[in-house]
Amino acid sequence: MSMTTASAAVGSVCFPRSRIRGSSFHPRMSIRSSGSSTDTLSSVTQILTKLHKDCATPVPVLRHVADSMANDMRAGLAVDGSSDLKMILSYVDALPTGNEKGLFYALDLGGTNFRVLRVQLGGTDQRVIATEAEQVSIPQELMFGTSEELFDFIASGLAKFAEKENGEFQLSQGRNRELGFTFSFPVKQTSIDSGVLIKWTKGFAVSGTAGRDVVACLNEAMKRQGLEMQVSALVNDTVGTLAGAKYWDNDVMIAVILGTGTNACYVERTDAIPKLPGQISKSGTTIINTEWGAFSTGLPLTEFDRGMDAASINPGEQIFEKTISGMYLGEIVRRVVLEMAETGSLFGSSIPEKLQTPFSLRTPHICAMQQDTTTNLDAVGSILFNEAGIESNMGARKMVLEVCDTIAKRGGRLAGAGIVGILQKMEDDMEGLIFGKRTVVAMDGGLYENYPQYRTYLQDAVTDLLGPALSENIVIEHSKDGSGIGAALLAAANSKYKP
Ligand code: ADP
Ligand code: MG
Repeated sequence: MSMTTASAAVGSVCFPRSRIRGSSFHPRMSIRSSGSSTDTLSSVTQILTKLHKDCATPVPVLRHVADSMANDMRAGLAVDGSSDLKMILSYVDALPTGNEKGLFYALDLGGTNFRVLRVQLGGTDQRVIATEAEQVSIPQELMFGTSEELFDFIASGLAKFAEKENGEFQLSQGRNRELGFTFSFPVKQTSIDSGVLIKWTKGFAVSGTAGRDVVACLNEAMKRQGLEMQVSALVNDTVGTLAGAKYWDNDVMIAVILGTGTNACYVERTDAIPKLPGQISKSGTTIINTEWGAFSTGLPLTEFDRGMDAASINPGEQIFEKTISGMYLGEIVRRVVLEMAETGSLFGSSIPEKLQTPFSLRTPHICAMQQDTTTNLDAVGSILFNEAGIESNMGARKMVLEVCDTIAKRGGRLAGAGIVGILQKMEDDMEGLIFGKRTVVAMDGGLYENYPQYRTYLQDAVTDLLGPALSENIVIEHSKDGSGIGAALLAAANSKYKP
C-alpha cells in the first residue's frame, strides 16, 4: 500500500460521534500543546519514514536472517546451550502410520485458549471415523495464578468434555482413556510422555510449574478431578501439527505455528544431531522442536520493539516471537501510533488514555483495519474509536493503516525467511531431497489463518529468497487444527497398550 500524507488534516474529525455505535466515549485524555499543523504533519511523516526504513526487509536482510537461522540450528544441534535455538529433541520418532485404531483424546494448551478433542481411529481403510472438539478460553487471572489452579481448571474442562462421549466414540475393552497433550511452551522433554517446563512464555506467569514435569502436573490434576485418563504423548504444538499433517501427506517435512506465539519443528536425521544421547531412534529420523521464537540474529528492529521488549515480562528473550507473532503485532502498532499522537499530534491535541494502555490495540484489530474497503475507512475509524479512544480523520486513518501494513509486512516476511532458513539447513544435509522434490510446510495458528496480508507477505518472502523455480517445489499449506488430531495420533502411536 502506498500513501500520500499531504492530505492528513491533523486534528479535524471526519464523522460525528453519534455514528459510532456500541461505544461509550468518556475521554480521559492528556492534553498536549500542538505546534502548527504543518509541523505536526511533518513529524508524523518523519516517524513513518523512519519506521519504513527500520522495518525494511529487502532480500539481503532476509537472506542474512535465513542464513543465521540455519547456523543457529546447527549450533543448537551440536551442544545444548550454545545457540538462541534450543533445538529440543521431541522423542517422536514413531510417527503415525495410519494403522492406529481406537478412541484417543487430545488436549491443546496454547496461550489464549485450550482445546479438547476426541477422535475415533479406524485403521488403514477407515482412518478418522469421527472427531469432536471444544474450545475453552483461559481466564486472565489463571495466567498469573498457581500451577495447581491452572491445571485443575484444564482437567475439569477435560472431564466435562469426556462426560459427553457418546455412541460414535468407543473405548476398547480393558483400556483406560489415553491423551495426547499438546503443550506449546518450551519444555525439556525426557521421554515421549514426560517433560520439564523450562519457562512460561506468551505472557504466562504461573507460579510453581517451571522445573516440573508438566505431564505429572496434568495427570495429578486429572486424578483430583476423578477423571480416568492418562497422558501417552507430550507434544509441542508444532510437533502435533507435523504429525497430523504427515498422516495425510508424506511430503510434510516442517511445521510452523503462527498464533499468539510462534515456533517451528522439522524432520531431522539422527546422524545430524551431535548432541544426541546415544541411539534413540530406530527410524533414523526424529522431529526437532526448534523453539525458533528465541531467534534474534540480524532482525530489523525499531525503538518501538525495544520499548515493548523492555516492558515485557521476559525482556531480551523471544525476540523473533515478539517481531512476528500475534501477541505482539498489535502492540507494536499501538506504540508507533502513540508516538505519532504524542510528537506529531496525529489525532489533535489530546492523547486518549486507551491509546496509552499497553495491548489495547490487538493483532485482530490491526488485521480487521487492513480489511476495510470502504471509501471513508469507516471500520478503521470505529476500531480506532472503540479500542483506542481515538477520533480520526481520513488522513490519520490512512496513516494508521500504513503503520499496520509496515508491521505486518515485516512480520510476514521475516517468518518466510525463517522457513527458508530451515529448508536451507535441511537441503545442505540432504542435497536434492528438499528443493529437488515436492516439500510441504504445514502451517497453523490464528495469525496465519486469519491475516491474509500477512500470509501473502510470508509467501512473497519465500519466493523472493528461493526464486520462482525452487519455490514451486515448496508448498506452504494451512493445516487447520492439525495439532489436535496430531497429538491424538501420537497418543495412539505411542499407546501404553499393545495393538
Ligand atoms: P494459540 O496460539 O494461543 O494456540 P491460536 O493459534 O488460535 O491460539 O492463535 C490465536 C492468536 O491468533 C491470537 O492471539 C491473535 O494474535 C491471532 N489472531 C486471532 N484472530 C486473528 C485475526 N482475525 N487476525 C489476526 N490475528 C488473529
Ligand atoms: Mg496453538
